[in-house]
Parts: sequence; structure tokens; C-alpha cells
Amino acid sequence: MEEPTLTLSELLAEAAAAASLGDRAEAERLFRRATERSPGNSTAWLGLAAAVDSPQEKRACYEQALAINPNNGEARIALQRLASQAAPQEASAIQTTLANAAAQVAADPTRYAPQPARPSADNAAAAGNGDAPATAAQVLYCANHPDTETTLRCNRCGKPVCIRCVELTEVGYRCKECIREQQNVFFTAEIKDYFVLAIVSFGLAALATPVIELLLGMLGLFFGVILAVFLGPAVGGAAATIIRRSVGRRRGRHMGTVGVVAIILGVGFGLLVASLFGMSINLIPLGVFLFLSLSTIYATLR
Ligand SMILES: [Zn+2]
Ligand SMILES: [Zn+2]
Repeated sequence: MEEPTLTLSELLAEAAAAASLGDRAEAERLFRRATERSPGNSTAWLGLAAAVDSPQEKRACYEQALAINPNNGEARIALQRLASQAAPQEASAIQTTLANAAAQVAADPTRYAPQPARPSADNAAAAGNGDAPATAAQVLYCANHPDTETTLRCNRCGKPVCIRCVELTEVGYRCKECIREQQNVFFTAEIKDYFVLAIVSFGLAALATPVIELLLGMLGLFFGVILAVFLGPAVGGAAATIIRRSVGRRRGRHMGTVGVVAIILGVGFGLLVASLFGMSINLIPLGVFLFLSLSTIYATLR
């Protein structure tokens, strides 16, 4: 089974959840997918290492994490432990890997930010708190900026994020990936909705303009403006409701703009027809009315 809709961070969160529920087979499957999707992600390798059974496989995973960052404390400690349990030949091979990693760090200490070990990933995952929230003792690093310490986690996918990579939403701190994903869920409009939106908006405006112009014109400039102030938001709100219904209440990133442009064209058309029938145009009340109704419509459709 594929998880094409999951982001990497969601995949990792699901894998960690499986591990914390003790479902090692599922955790292994999901972490393996994460390593395939993003071979440079050490979290995926460390998670997979904890989920697999054989020491050889664990070793291979920790070595991958160490290759990504030779200063990865968790991988180093785990490899030390594996070496202490391995046959002499394998143990010395692991020690060579560790020595090479240490030399790499020593050669360029600023490049490899220390990634301190989490309290025994194997045991934590097995004990059921594989992805526990940050505690005071636990140092977290931003998932996007590996050398920035942080105490924040995205409350949807759980990954640690620094203040640059997080936004405070109504439901708490969310990483930008999760926010974008939720916006995509929110914006479900299809191309045909934009056609319907444009036609309905244009039609409504073309029909309503002569009527409103007639009303405003009857009152003269002063009372026309007063009426426009009251009528603008109300008519705008009603029009927005009709337009929203016509597109099945689906939303799109550009609906506000498309709706407003179609309405302006419809108003132009309505005015043209009205003036052909000899109606006089009162620009100031109409301008006030349009400004107020359009801003209401834009805010609703957006
Ligand atoms: Zn997130
Ligand atoms: Zn960051």
C-alpha cells in the first residue's frame, strides 16, 4: 500500500506513532518508506534502526545516519553498543566506522552540528514514547535548520521546528508544510467553478446595476451616498452568498479576484445598457456602493 498523500513529516509521525503503539512491523514499513523517499533524513534511519530486529540491519541504518551527520550522537552510541555485542571482526569494522566519523567531525567541527542522543531510541520506541514531546532534559533541533535549538514542535506532525519555521495558528504552533497542506485541503475549487463564478458574478452585476442606479439616482447626491453606505455591504453580502452557492461553496485561491473582475465587467455592461435606455449615471453614490459591496464580496469569496 502506498501513502502518496502523506508528506515526509506525516510519514515519520505515523511511523513514530506505530512504533509507540508497539507495532514494529508497521513502524518498520513506514520508516523504510521514509528512507526511500528521503535517504538524507537521519530521523528516518534512526527510526528504522529501532524498528528492525537484526543487529546487521540496525548497524546498516545507524551507519546511514552517521554518514548523513558523523556527529549524530544517537547513531554513535547505538553503534558502540552494537560493537560491544558483535563478533570481534564485525566489532572492529564498526569501530573503524566510528573512528572515521570522529575524524570527519574533528576535521570540520563547525560543519557537523552535534545531534545529541535521544534517551535510547530503541528503548523509548519499545516503551511507548518514541516521539514524546520535548522535555526539559531533551534538546531538540529544528527539522529544517539542524543547528538551531528549539523547544517548539508542530502540533500536527510533531516535528521540532524553530521560530522561523513555525506559525502560531488558531490551533497552536504548526509547521509551514502542515499549514500549506491544510490550505490545499481548504481550496477545492475546480476550473469549472471559476467559469460558473465568473458567469454568475457578471450576470448578477449586469442585472442589479440598473436597479441600484435607479434607486441611487432618485435620491440625489447626498441621500444617494447615504443609501449606498447602507446598501453596499448588504447587497455585497447577499451577492456573495448567491455566488458561493453557485460554486457549491467550494473555495479557490483566486476566487475573490475572479469574482470582483467579473462584477466590474458586469457593472460596466449594466451601465452601458442603462445609458442606452437614457438613464443618468450618478457616479459618486455608485462608486461608494461598488467599493463597499465589492470589498464585502472579495472578503467572502477569498
Ligand atoms: Zn507539521
Ligand atoms: Zn527552522
